Amino acid sequence: MPESKQPVYILPENVSRTLGRDAQRNNILAAKIVADVVKTTLGPKGMDKMLVDSTGNIIVTNDGVTILEEIQLEHPAAKMIAEIAKTQEREVGDGTTTVAMLAGKFLENAEKLLDKKIHPTVIIKGYKLAADQAKKMLNEISVPVDNKHVLKQIAMTAMTGKGAESNREQLADLIVSAIEQVGTGKVVDLGDIKIVKDKGDSVEHSELVQGIVLDKEASNDSMPSRVSNSSVLLIDFALELRSPETETRISVSTPEQLQQFISSEEQALREMTQKIILSGAKTVFCQKGIDDVAQYYLAKTGILAYRRVAKSDMEKISRATSARIVSSLHEISSSDLGFADTIEQIKKGEDTMTYISGCKNPKAVTLILRGSTDHVLDEIERAVKDGMGDVSAAIRDGRVVSGGGAVEMELAKRLRAFSKTLGGREQLAVEEFASALESIPEALAENAGLDPITIMAELKQRHEAGNARDGLNLFSNRIEDCLSAGIVEPLRVKLLAVSSASEVATMILRIDDVLVASGPITNVQNKQPYDGMD
Ligand code: ADP
Ligand code: MG
Repeated sequence: MPESKQPVYILPENVSRTLGRDAQRNNILAAKIVADVVKTTLGPKGMDKMLVDSTGNIIVTNDGVTILEEIQLEHPAAKMIAEIAKTQEREVGDGTTTVAMLAGKFLENAEKLLDKKIHPTVIIKGYKLAADQAKKMLNEISVPVDNKHVLKQIAMTAMTGKGAESNREQLADLIVSAIEQVGTGKVVDLGDIKIVKDKGDSVEHSELVQGIVLDKEASNDSMPSRVSNSSVLLIDFALELRSPETETRISVSTPEQLQQFISSEEQALREMTQKIILSGAKTVFCQKGIDDVAQYYLAKTGILAYRRVAKSDMEKISRATSARIVSSLHEISSSDLGFADTIEQIKKGEDTMTYISGCKNPKAVTLILRGSTDHVLDEIERAVKDGMGDVSAAIRDGRVVSGGGAVEMELAKRLRAFSKTLGGREQLAVEEFASALESIPEALAENAGLDPITIMAELKQRHEAGNARDGLNLFSNRIEDCLSAGIVEPLRVKLLAVSSASEVATMILRIDDVLVASGPITNVQNKQPYDGMD
């Protein structure tokens, strides 16, 4: 049979395809660009980015993950890098710029090897070996966290260079106290620290409340605005006779019957509130509604009551005041009550906030962040969350490493020594992995306007000489033992950054074919326009 001149279409028209080296180069380029975008924000002297969306909303930030989330990335490989930054944020709350930069650098260096005709499989194998070794080495390099002072340094290191810069010492104290208050042993649930942003005051007036601050006011104006020594009752059922969901029909035919009906309803509500009053509660938080009549009786007895409190807040109040959330009227007993020193409604402008403070050994607390504008407050919140993530990660593992690029330099040195034990081309891959790690101290120096070449040379020499904790201290602009200088990071942040950056890099390296559909991806084979011609 003569060869057909007819082209064979195996893909629908709306699918574009990139193959082989082109696909690899294209993906590597995208990853490199993403890494370069965040690179200038790394470290205390990093610059900020101003992000403006189509509606004109502005975000000014230094936070890697926020930048990657806000810019609309189109390229699939770029999206994969943004994705690991998000994972880093979720798992440890910090190190997002580092992870994106490392992934980009791993790929950039892999390209050098591809140019030398080294097969991706070999690079992948070498990177995997390097990552496994790096994790072991990180554990060896790390040191135990021994005191509260170090925890404070960790929080301060995390906030350096963020919007919170000038108040980071005070904020670090608040973070450490909050975490110590809610944590038990090595377990810290950051959900137990409520963050409330209060605009219009200066950052130094930020404070930690031993309890919960609610964005709510009492259900009735005639209730007290302040209750001290308050016993607290939490209920998750409505103080109403009929719930709006169930319809009830009543038939009355005479005015007397109607009157009787109304007074019997009133009587029932009165009995309900009586149960609450008898329990000894001075303040009631109700997850559902409270009938006006019930409100009236409560107010008359001087009880402060809140209705329709969010479930998440109910749980936090319970953890703060040790009150048990009661689910039925008959179960209420004084042993369910919690305690707060003061419960106070504070009016500020249009808004009223309720402070439930002075709880005894609360397991949930509130951090009130203050700042002049929304933009300032948002950036402070991001910095504080980085600090909280780092402190809780350090408590969980009980181990930290030296910052300022020290840990990356030491890892690189050790990995190079390890590479010498390998034969073949994997050795080259391990070496490239090691130099990718050095991009962190290099960027720290570059972002601070220092000469990266001189700094890197000196850092290398110091590490060769056995000074494993020497990094670039950007407070003093000197190369020194950063751990002793108080630049401390949790081991977990580095472990996760190295392992997820290398995972995504090898995943991208494995791709040699990119199919992009303009519509949703369907089963390509069934859409062949092949019509039986041969
Ligand atoms: P990431 O999103 O990766 O956490 P950051 O912008 O927070 O990025 O920068 C973190 C890096 O800055 C870490 O490598 C840390 O060691 C370094 N760093 C923090 N404070 C200092 C300092 N005072 N001097 C030098 N490096 C510092
Ligand atoms: Mg950080």
